[in-house]
Amino acid sequence: MAEERRKKTVLVVVAHADDMEFMAAGTVARFIRDFGYPVYEYILTDNSRGSYRLSGPELVAVSAEEARAAGRILGLEEVRLEGYRDGELDRVPPGELRGKIMAMIREVRADIVMSWDPFAPYEDHPDHRAVAMATLEAAAFASNPLFHPEHAAPPHMPTEAYWFAKSPMNARLFVDISAVMDLKVAALLAHDCQMVLTVDALVREARALGVDLPMLENLEEGAHGALVEMGIRQHCARVGAEAGLECAEQFRHEKFGMLDMVLGTDFVRPDFA
Ligand SMILES: [Zn+2]
Repeated sequence: MAEERRKKTVLVVVAHADDMEFMAAGTVARFIRDFGYPVYEYILTDNSRGSYRLSGPELVAVSAEEARAAGRILGLEEVRLEGYRDGELDRVPPGELRGKIMAMIREVRADIVMSWDPFAPYEDHPDHRAVAMATLEAAAFASNPLFHPEHAAPPHMPTEAYWFAKSPMNARLFVDISAVMDLKVAALLAHDCQMVLTVDALVREARALGVDLPMLENLEEGAHGALVEMGIRQHCARVGAEAGLECAEQFRHEKFGMLDMVLGTDFVRPDFA
């Protein structure tokens, strides 16, 4: 008889509405569909700087709605937006950010945390660096009752982390997302204003390079998603090829605590190993 799987709760902590969909939505879909794990998403900023076209207040409303739509596609338990100003998470006192994330870990009883890798190199976004470090620290101390005793929920210990990065380092866990690739794409494309932003950014890059790309410049309304879809499918195929898989997402998997090290055991294992 197969060993019974310990049921885990997953908390994804990100800076922006579309971070999870780009980096980890396939793995999230597998947690939910294959294992029945509840997954919560905690978005720290208000996404108010993610456009060349919309105003800040417009973006706050649109991106929140799109994040909830993507959450429904994936089957998330909840999408919670904290509303710190986009692009300025590094100006929030580190202890405050850590406390907010720790409270969320304790409230949902997160066993697995997923976020930007605090130690991956070359990350240029201050929000990604801030949320990454705060998530690591919050997870490491959430079980200690002397940290934030004012929290409503009691202390709780997450046992593992899935760290993702634009330039992954020591990220040896490849999750096969071939069967849920369409779901990842659907969740990503729910972020319509971010698909437009992605293409607008590519247009500006082409101009900076002096490259003439009329195909990008004259893209019809509604065609932005198709272009990003092509890109993300190619990206996940390239990541998968590194591990002999059709499509994959890549993580640095970390165990919290020391039990396995002290006893020489292997109690904490990634579900996809
Ligand atoms: Zn982001």
